[in-house]
Amino acid sequence: MKRVYNFSAGPSILPLEVLEKAQKELLSYADSGMSVMELSHRSKLFTEVIEKAEQDLRELMNIPDNYKVLFLQGGATLQFSMVPLNLMQNGKAGFVHTGSWSKKAIQEAEKFGEVEVIASSADRGFNYIPNLDEVEFDPELDYIHITTNNTIEGTAFTDIPDTGNIPLVADMSSNILSEAIDVNKFGIIYAGAQKNIGPAGLTIVIIREDLIGKAKADCPIMLDYKTHSESNSLYNTPPTFGIYMASLVFEWLKGLGGIEAMEAKNRKKAQLLYDFLDESDFFTTPVDKASRSFMNIPFVTPSKELDAAFIEEAKAAGLETLKGHRSVGGMRASIYNAMPVEGVELLVDVMREFEKKHH
Ligand code: PMP
Repeated sequence: MKRVYNFSAGPSILPLEVLEKAQKELLSYADSGMSVMELSHRSKLFTEVIEKAEQDLRELMNIPDNYKVLFLQGGATLQFSMVPLNLMQNGKAGFVHTGSWSKKAIQEAEKFGEVEVIASSADRGFNYIPNLDEVEFDPELDYIHITTNNTIEGTAFTDIPDTGNIPLVADMSSNILSEAIDVNKFGIIYAGAQKNIGPAGLTIVIIREDLIGKAKADCPIMLDYKTHSESNSLYNTPPTFGIYMASLVFEWLKGLGGIEAMEAKNRKKAQLLYDFLDESDFFTTPVDKASRSFMNIPFVTPSKELDAAFIEEAKAAGLETLKGHRSVGGMRASIYNAMPVEGVELLVDVMREFEKKHH
């Protein structure tokens, strides 16, 4: 069997141990004679799966009791609609515009009310995170939305802004569980699962209880947080296999020593690549040093032709999916939690060799 180092931005690499455990349990879960995929979502066995997934996520992220954890569908993209549908009481939201995903979130929120872009990094092609220290927030805002990690541009918030009484909503799709955060700073955290959590098809929402039950009466029932909160994510059939896989990933993370241990490992991996990029004058990254993501690292060679040649050489060495997003080109290494340090070391070796040959 051949496994590669998969640098895809999502769906992305999963821990080998997790895949092996799922493989072992695939045909008969806990001696039931059934796959988790075949279990009723109301069965005792599945109830244990979803409850354990929630418990482990609560432990990992230190989620306070006044927050609900919801296991939903529709991807992070459906949250672009659900958040305004549920929170826009005054009809006005503030957005920090930091890239392609925040743009999509803004465009969707504009359908439901007024959007105030309170800060933006569009002036320099989104290669930095704007400083919010000097920004005065309009107290009429129903919420303020940020994208903590910009998957395409390779930037990340290093400090979470203090928005006072205005609920802070965060799209954490590409860096949830990668570093320690204080959940108390947020009103809502949401993330599609297909990067640091598990397979695509599951979306996690962590929501402060006082923000639930505020949707208007005509809000579709599946888009109302109250529906899912009151039924413990079992209003309809949830993505059961995705929840099971997520629970295996949470268990794996706990076994590694939790988020702090993961964060240290992630910083080390990113440092390896950034140190090389900083010393190279052949490979470069467009991102401001202070705003660098340690999940998604975009970089380029001096030309498009060399970029394409590099991607081919990397592939031959077992390094897959390094092509940058179609909107920005170049390369992008997504080095999520499940990417082993050996994968990044090999990437840097291949880059060094390529530079020697072509410089
Ligand atoms: N937000 C961010 C930051 C993302 O990276 C992505 C997906 N790559 C999305 C939103 C959209 O997520 P989904 O495909 O789960 O709807």
